[in-house]
Amino acid sequence: MSKSDYEIIIGLEVHVQLNTKTKIFCGDQNSFGELANRHTSSISLAHPGTLPRVNREAINKGIALALALGSEINQENRFDRKHYFYPDLPKAYQITQDRLPICVGGSIDIPSGDTTRTIRFHHTHMEEDAGKSIHDLDPKNSMIDLNRAGTPLLEIVTEPDMRSAQEVHDFIATLQQLVRYIGISDANMEEGSMRCDCNVSVRLKGDTQLNNRCEVKNINSKKFAMQAVAYEAQRQIKLMEQGEHIDQQTLHFDSETGRTSSTRDKEDAHDYRYFPDPDLPPVYITDEEIAQIKEQMPILPQAQKQLYIEQDIKAEHAELLIQERATVTFTNELLQAHQDSSAAVNFMINKVLPTTKEDYHDDLTTFPLTVAQCAAFLKLIDAGKIIHSTAYQQLYPALLADPTADPAALCESMGLSQSNDTDLIDDLIQAVIQENPDEVKKYQKGKKGLIGFFVGKVMKESKGKADPKLIQQKLTEALQS
Ligand code: ADP
Ligand code: MG
Repeated sequence: MSKSDYEIIIGLEVHVQLNTKTKIFCGDQNSFGELANRHTSSISLAHPGTLPRVNREAINKGIALALALGSEINQENRFDRKHYFYPDLPKAYQITQDRLPICVGGSIDIPSGDTTRTIRFHHTHMEEDAGKSIHDLDPKNSMIDLNRAGTPLLEIVTEPDMRSAQEVHDFIATLQQLVRYIGISDANMEEGSMRCDCNVSVRLKGDTQLNNRCEVKNINSKKFAMQAVAYEAQRQIKLMEQGEHIDQQTLHFDSETGRTSSTRDKEDAHDYRYFPDPDLPPVYITDEEIAQIKEQMPILPQAQKQLYIEQDIKAEHAELLIQERATVTFTNELLQAHQDSSAAVNFMINKVLPTTKEDYHDDLTTFPLTVAQCAAFLKLIDAGKIIHSTAYQQLYPALLADPTADPAALCESMGLSQSNDTDLIDDLIQAVIQENPDEVKKYQKGKKGLIGFFVGKVMKESKGKADPKLIQQKLTEALQS
């Protein structure tokens, strides 16, 4: 049998670190990248006699996720203890949700060619993160940093609905975008605020039963997820071809070699001895609380895209505009401030977004121009105060260099205002015709495409101040005679 006779089945468990101010069960600050062991307390260090108390902000973020994924909310949910021994887990158990997680079910659509595919969720539960073991700082010892211990996590578990490495990539990207939109996490895989485990199995096409799966743990980039899934699927297909059995196991992905290998750590000790945490009462969520969070939810990316399309914005432009919530906010304010929506969208796509990407770390919140300035800039073009190309090529960079300037005043002081002094244009046209006799001959023999060349020359001579349409009209006449 060949590779194409097999189907790859993937289900993900995605951990999303919530951006709450404090940890899930105590008041320690929840922040990344600080000096080790700065954000710990008797509770996160698990001193005997201390008691956890649930952080309502974390619960609210779980509710927001449920609303975004269309999950059902367990209005009574509970915390359980999951026991295992590991140096970065001070209590020797992790507080998690086993039997009554905060959300159940739901789904999202991911792009798939010209259509979409629906990926369903099994459930999402809340839990605390463990600390971090650091093995590469000291040749003899491992170091422990407990800043992360007690950070709130949502573990989002999908049904085994993905069928290729590409779908895994697209699913993670879509989920990442969604959690950023609703503002519950920065979902930065490099920094570990989003990580996933990939469960992979293969079967012959047409089979309806699922085969044994392997779980590749702790993947921290979309690229690695794709590589891990592709490698793991090939490994299993090879075994099946040889008539061998696939053992259900936990694997580690080595990003240097692109291979998966067996781990023999805590993950294989499957007796976690779950039981309800007696220190934590059940969490009750009222209808009013859900309604309140619903009210604060932004329009989700796909719905926003649809709204843009209804406003006659091209689908591919709409897709670029919905990538991040900050872009949507900026675009919507600009559309409010400037009536010509196609000019506003064009400016977003061709200027604001590329500039942000190149010079402002792809973070529109640090882009130096305000919406009002952008609208004033577009108005200058609209009112014929400046030629479009001159505005884009000269005024825009000047504004970026002097972001507090008034666009109209800057246009004036730079001498960029449109001027259609017809005598001057006629003079410039005559000069250009005289300087380019060969092109003139070719044009007159029928190479009419050269008109652009002449317009460009005259435009340049006018320092970008003359209307290219007027130049073209006058040039056409001049070249005929
Ligand atoms: P467990 O309870 O052992 O963690 P689950 O049944 O909850 O296992 O599944 C965990 C993850 O593995 C889910 O994302 C699920 O979609 C996925 N999964 C389960 N069975 C398979 C399979 N045969 N192939 C691929 N993924 C699977
Ligand atoms: Mg699991």
